[in-house]
Amino acid sequence: MSERSSIEQGMLRVLKAPPHYEFELDSSATLTEIYRQAMLDTYDVARQAWNEALPMAVSHRDCFVVAGASLFGSSSKMYRVFGYNLKPEPGDTANIHAEELILYQAETLDATTLSLVVVGVPQPDNSITDHDLVLSPCSYRCTPKIIADASVGQFTMTVGVNPRTGATQFIPHSRLITREWQDIPCIEVDSLNNRAEWLEKALPIIDMLMQQLDIAELESFVEEKRRLQVANIARQLAQINHSGTSGYEFLGSPSAFAPTDESSYTPTAVPQRSSYPLILMGLAHRLDKAVDIPGF
Ligand SMILES: [Zn+2]
Repeated sequence: MSERSSIEQGMLRVLKAPPHYEFELDSSATLTEIYRQAMLDTYDVARQAWNEALPMAVSHRDCFVVAGASLFGSSSKMYRVFGYNLKPEPGDTANIHAEELILYQAETLDATTLSLVVVGVPQPDNSITDHDLVLSPCSYRCTPKIIADASVGQFTMTVGVNPRTGATQFIPHSRLITREWQDIPCIEVDSLNNRAEWLEKALPIIDMLMQQLDIAELESFVEEKRRLQVANIARQLAQINHSGTSGYEFLGSPSAFAPTDESSYTPTAVPQRSSYPLILMGLAHRLDKAVDIPGF
């Protein structure tokens, strides 16, 4: 077994399905209201990412990064998904960034990414200056992936949160594209343990960001996603009729991934073990690596 493949086998043993929640939306909620709520939820998403996804992160140099996202799904659903970094060895042989797990889940759920929250302590050796209060997506790998992702539009808000200080920076998509977000003021709070203080300071910024939201663009993006989803389902149904089989052809479909408990506003179960291979296969595909998954 080559060194590389043994590392990847090791990764498969440690890669765990990240926590995943889904919420039923009030059918009368407008997209503007849904979007605003996603921005307000940043604090909870960041805290939850730090509490629930951090134990899954693996870093040979103790540089742990987690991420969370508010995803808008079709059929009046919101998803809150999480990711974590996985870098057991130096070098790039085995390396998954938290944001990549988020994008993979958005793709699997066929959802629209409203916010993507990156939570980590800025590292001085990470091409980050001393002035940076928050960690943002890495410029060489995650930023281009976020920009190119099918779940992401001009409305997608990338947010950096420092879990120690609670400092929070909202990065509008146009700024992510030009890589010019360093001058955007941070919300500075004492810690990530005071929701009221965070909300008080975040509200004026969120209201300002809402004024910049092109709701028509979000509406047409969501509409196009719905159209593609309907076309996809029709194609899958045609495949069943044609081949008479099911199961493996649906690897990675939302139904295979979604938790079974769909009760509204309650945390749903972590996906069952049977869904792990789906995540791994999807990741292997996304990372363009030939990973042999044993025992499934
Ligand atoms: Zn990255």
